[in-house]
Amino acid sequence: MEDLEAKMREPELVGCFEDALQFDHIYAVYQPQINHSTGRMVGAEALMRWKHPIYGVQMPGDFIPVLEKNNLIYRADLHIFETVCRFQRKCLDQGISIIPISVNMSRYDIYNTNYVEEIEGIRKKYDIPVKYLRLEITESSAIGGREMITRVLRQLHDHGYTVEMDDFGSGYSSLNILKDLDVDVIKLDMAFLSGDIGGRGGTILSSIVQMTKWLNTPVIAEGVETLEQADYMKSTGCNYIQGYLYYRPLPEEEFLEKMTQLEHEPLTPAMHLIKTLDAGKFWDPNSMETLIFNNFVGGAAIFTYNKSTKAKKILRVNRKYVKELGMNMTERDIIGKDVWNAFDSHEEQKYEDMLLRAIVGGEEEMSETWRKVYSDCCGEDKICIRTYVREIGEAGEEYLFYAMVQNVTAEKKRDLQLAEDEARYKFAFEQANVYAWEYTIATKEMRPCFRCMRDLGLPPLVRNYPEPAIEQRIFPPDYADMYRDWHKQLEQGVESLEAIIPLTVGRVPFHVRYTLEKDENGKPLKAYGSATLVINED
Ligand code: C2E
Ligand code: CA
Ligand code: CA
Repeated sequence: MEDLEAKMREPELVGCFEDALQFDHIYAVYQPQINHSTGRMVGAEALMRWKHPIYGVQMPGDFIPVLEKNNLIYRADLHIFETVCRFQRKCLDQGISIIPISVNMSRYDIYNTNYVEEIEGIRKKYDIPVKYLRLEITESSAIGGREMITRVLRQLHDHGYTVEMDDFGSGYSSLNILKDLDVDVIKLDMAFLSGDIGGRGGTILSSIVQMTKWLNTPVIAEGVETLEQADYMKSTGCNYIQGYLYYRPLPEEEFLEKMTQLEHEPLTPAMHLIKTLDAGKFWDPNSMETLIFNNFVGGAAIFTYNKSTKAKKILRVNRKYVKELGMNMTERDIIGKDVWNAFDSHEEQKYEDMLLRAIVGGEEEMSETWRKVYSDCCGEDKICIRTYVREIGEAGEEYLFYAMVQNVTAEKKRDLQLAEDEARYKFAFEQANVYAWEYTIATKEMRPCFRCMRDLGLPPLVRNYPEPAIEQRIFPPDYADMYRDWHKQLEQGVESLEAIIPLTVGRVPFHVRYTLEKDENGKPLKAYGSATLVINED
């Protein structure tokens, strides 16, 4: 009888999950990583598959979100980790020389405080030397709070694991996040590489000053399908390739065959550490530094600021910078310009304060400012730009800055809308499946809505929030740290937070959101929380 290939839906996936683990319906395929210059193998990535006896093979893009939503992903990830260890043990026992294998870590694994201990237990059980195992995390892991990911990274490093940053550049990262995450390998996905690779001469180029640490780590290019792409990557100094050009993800036996046929070699950094701004690489349009600056760091600029005249001048920008600002200009048009003239004076002051803070403190600083834009088709409009800056040099009154920008206009407008909605909730919550509460940052006091009081037995005023809600298991223990971290983030000024969280002992999935209200000086005042029942659409 032939397999009936069909996409499984949420109830089937959840219903079959235990069996899938027990009978290895969830298993790993392996995609080799190759040095394009030498043809040797440098590693492989284990990718999860699920083969249901009737529905056939399911792809991770379809089932992983379901596992994440149902809090099952960490068990699936541990299962893959164990599968990899079992495979490597089998090889070692047969005297086959093995290669490091990367295992993916969902960002939900990071919230799971035991995760590192669990994988350590498995590794020891199979007695696999730690150098043969790598863990892949993604930038989005930092969303749940930097503390958590930093802790997990430290734990992994303490045990000797190699950690890879997967899908580098796919999301926005503040410079600090990038700088603080101490990863050992970067993976660049060709899918995120925009348009004309290689092109563009002198206008853009880089100062990856903040990224020197990163540039001293090995880089693997992923999703490489054509020889042209591989050769291009090689020309920038990145020799390590994982993609269909060499191999698709292979079943275990086929992978074993390739692993025994090919020679192995270790990963080494592609680039040399750049210590100074004028290093030749910065100005070389074909260098890896330029590639990363243009394609993987989000909107970035380098500008000078004169403390006495307050003049600001752009020296370098990348393509994404122009795109974020929505300007109808080329990079070349912007060089030498003062692009800050669209500020209201109030907003300009805010921006200058940020620069001065960055000069005094030597740390990364952030501000959000509104400015006017004008275009022939749409007339005048206002946009909100979030800027992260860091001072990178000074000469007399002139200071050199590195900036990363994000256009957060849509987000801001949504927040404003949300705040209005939130005010309306106070009257409307009785009709909907919504729980709302107000959290005062300074006093850690929480004021629940009538529904919260009625359904959860909360008093009108809860002190030392969120501890009582964690004690009462309204927020389950495995989400406690994440939820505590949210409140720290709010205190630090994070504008909004949201996640699906299984609430109460019944673990009913709710969409939990926070929106922050600040006072006129930008100091966090109150946060408005809401929890909406997740309705299953299918
Ligand atoms: P990822 O970690 O970025 O994995 C790389 C994906 O790119 C894989 O898709 C791989 O098959 C695909 N790929 C490799 N070479 C090429 C190429 O040349 N061209 C194209 N177009 N694609 C290529 P896959 O196996 O479908 O996995 C998708 C995603 O699912 C992974 O993206 C990862 O985020 C997630 N995933 C896979 N396995 C696991 C796992 O064990 N645990 C967790 N938490 N997530 C996993
Ligand atoms: Ca991966
Ligand atoms: Ca990837």
